[in-house]
Amino acid sequence: MSVIPYGRQDISEADIAAVVDVLRSDYLTQGPLVPRFEHEVAAFVGAKHAVAVNSATSALHVACLALGLGPGDWLWTSPVTFVASANCALYCGAQVDFVDIDPRTYNMSASALEQKLLRAETEGRLPKIVVPVHLCGQPCDMAAIHALSKRFGFSIVEDASHAVGGRYRGLPIGNCQYSDVTIFSFHPVKIITTAEGGMAMTNDDGLANRMRLFRSHGITRDVEQMTQVPDGPWYYQQIELGYNYRMTELQAALGLSQMSRLGPFVERRHHLARRYDEKLAALPLILPWQHPDSYSGLHLYVVRVPGDATRSHREVFASLREQGIGVNLHYIPVHTQPYYRNFGFKDGDFPEAEAYYAEAISLPMYATLSEEQQDTVVAALVKALG
Ligand SMILES: *Cc1c(COP(=O)(O)O)cnc(C)c1O
Repeated sequence: MSVIPYGRQDISEADIAAVVDVLRSDYLTQGPLVPRFEHEVAAFVGAKHAVAVNSATSALHVACLALGLGPGDWLWTSPVTFVASANCALYCGAQVDFVDIDPRTYNMSASALEQKLLRAETEGRLPKIVVPVHLCGQPCDMAAIHALSKRFGFSIVEDASHAVGGRYRGLPIGNCQYSDVTIFSFHPVKIITTAEGGMAMTNDDGLANRMRLFRSHGITRDVEQMTQVPDGPWYYQQIELGYNYRMTELQAALGLSQMSRLGPFVERRHHLARRYDEKLAALPLILPWQHPDSYSGLHLYVVRVPGDATRSHREVFASLREQGIGVNLHYIPVHTQPYYRNFGFKDGDFPEAEAYYAEAISLPMYATLSEEQQDTVVAALVKALG
């Protein structure tokens, strides 16, 4: 029995040809395609700058470094996310805290954020950076979070790993209208892929320059940035401690080729989501709720098995896996991970996130999922709930 996964890439012959062309060219890395890919994504989302890196995790790290996050600082994010959204703070020697989710969107709740900021202000522990995560591709309440950032003086890094191709209030996610930096992931399960890869978008020239520095060893060839007089035409200067987080030409070629199908990829996901909405409507499940302000990137389609259902969440999950449906759970709340419990987090700290975790199942959702396969998923779910 072949398993229907929860997500997978869509690779065309044109994608393959684009990558093979790079193998025959002069540059496997640091050639013309990385900047071309950056321009393409920046133009698509309407951001001034794009900094391509080797993963979204690296994008989060360079964004935090460029914003000056360091020891003594706090970064807040959602507990319902991949661990990378929080780990970026620890890489910088900063500390992490979480803001509970909204029970309808499963995104960081703007009102819980406001309450926590008011408490933190009296304790002198305000965050330097807040990382809203657009879970499943649905944007957070960015206007509200942005207003809070002005009032309490924090920076915003949007984790839009699930959301490239989506829109918030009619405009593309990634335009940074309500944030300092927005990051995307191009991992194969995400909406477009470069195998491994990520990108940081910003409208701020200084942040873009600093993210480029941290991407490549902290080295600059730009005389304007140098702190010593250049010694000759061969000269470069290391002015920060950076990393090697560069994207290769092979990855950029794949990304450029995938970009030409980004619109259709997201439309296909919406088509499949509408079909799920219809076919699952009569089942004892909580279906995804879509905020009318938003057009989701629809990386994930998450259903919830309510606690009072005939079959438990665990039974339904196990039955689906036994029937060859590669369902998954996004995500185990980060504060309950062993590594984070070491910082003193415990069960009960973020009740909405934990309630979500006890009920959520990610159903298969990807552009190449056929309607027949989707019907197989629906039939398996009917059986699992029976
Ligand atoms: C996938 C993902 C990441 C990390 O992406 P990589 O490109 O694999 O580093 C970060 N945050 C979220 C929410 C993700 O889904």
